[in-house]
Amino acid sequence: MKTYKIAVIPGDGVGPEVLKEGMKVLKQAAECSGAFSFEDTWFPWGCGYYLEHGQMMPGDGIRILEGFDAIYLGAVGDPRVPDHISLWDLLLKIRKSFDQYVNLRPVKLLRGAPCPLKDAAREDIHMTFIRENSEGEYAGSGSWLFKGKPNEVVIQDGVFSRTGCERIIRYAFETARKEKRSLTSISKANALNYSMVFWDQIFQELSAEYPDVETHSYLVDAASMFMVKDPSRFQVVVTSNLFGDILTDLGAAIAGGMGLAAGANLNPERKYPSMFEPIHGSAPDIAGRGIANPMASVWAASQMLDFFGHEDWGTRVLEALEAVLEDGRILTPDLGGTASTSQVGDAIARKLAEGG
Ligand code: ATP
Ligand code: MG
Repeated sequence: MKTYKIAVIPGDGVGPEVLKEGMKVLKQAAECSGAFSFEDTWFPWGCGYYLEHGQMMPGDGIRILEGFDAIYLGAVGDPRVPDHISLWDLLLKIRKSFDQYVNLRPVKLLRGAPCPLKDAAREDIHMTFIRENSEGEYAGSGSWLFKGKPNEVVIQDGVFSRTGCERIIRYAFETARKEKRSLTSISKANALNYSMVFWDQIFQELSAEYPDVETHSYLVDAASMFMVKDPSRFQVVVTSNLFGDILTDLGAAIAGGMGLAAGANLNPERKYPSMFEPIHGSAPDIAGRGIANPMASVWAASQMLDFFGHEDWGTRVLEALEAVLEDGRILTPDLGGTASTSQVGDAIARKLAEGG
């Protein structure tokens, strides 16, 4: 029997509350399968750790994580720690150190999930967002000239390497081919006259290698409009780091809200561990009250199962989640219910054990 070693970094705010439920569901899936198991090790890193030690994780944190099959991350963020520190010293450090260049975010409206769109537009909201996760607008390169002077100038570079663009776009083509769905590239070549022209060129080049995949290209502004007006246009979507960040929050908003949105940070070559997380933050306004929605974390757990090659169990976890959602009796307050975080986790685990 295969045992997967999971590094659990619950982080701050609601992170520990929701990951506890995700781990509960993962263990239930393992028990039902009888074919694999999980060994979870919890690391108390994040803003709490920073306030005590002056860093988000220990100096050898990356080396420690390297020995795991996957990382399961809750949320990092605390009003007392500047966002750029919590982001760069933990989340982005892990993404970069482990070359997790694919950010995979399902934008799928499950039965029973709330949606702010008109009825017609709700039909068929089912996108697989593939966001470039290692460079682009978030490469962290730039300069601050004449700081504090009247002629002060700030430059933030976008870094788009051929290797970086090719590997993410190729991953997207492979996904579209596997899923037999269309692929849409979202860029902005009319305004970003170097980076996005290059991106579009590489998309064109690679599309010649995948004649079986139907392709579309949108400017990011038009894409945002159509995600609201007619989301059924989009199936598999590939886009840059910044655009992907923004569009997937829009995606979360049309597919049930922050309590349901999950994301995987993948190193497809499996040279390093991949990381699975709910995309919401620490939500300090509701932390500690046992009312955070654990569904995003459960969905991220389902993505982890998929990535391990247990797609059957990944699908069953998602189906159990959807069954609880559709049933509507055991939901957290963000979805209009009165249940607690752990009651929702229990309900999903129970559905899974019942076999659907
Ligand atoms: P951070 O600074 O860590 O990003 P945040 O307050 O910005 O924290 P977000 O995740 O961006 O948190 O969420 C914004 C709001 O959405 C939260 O304040 C909370 O009210 C709600 N929210 C987020 N996640 C959940 C969840 N899992 N369940 C219920 N409500 C949530
Ligand atoms: Mg936030």
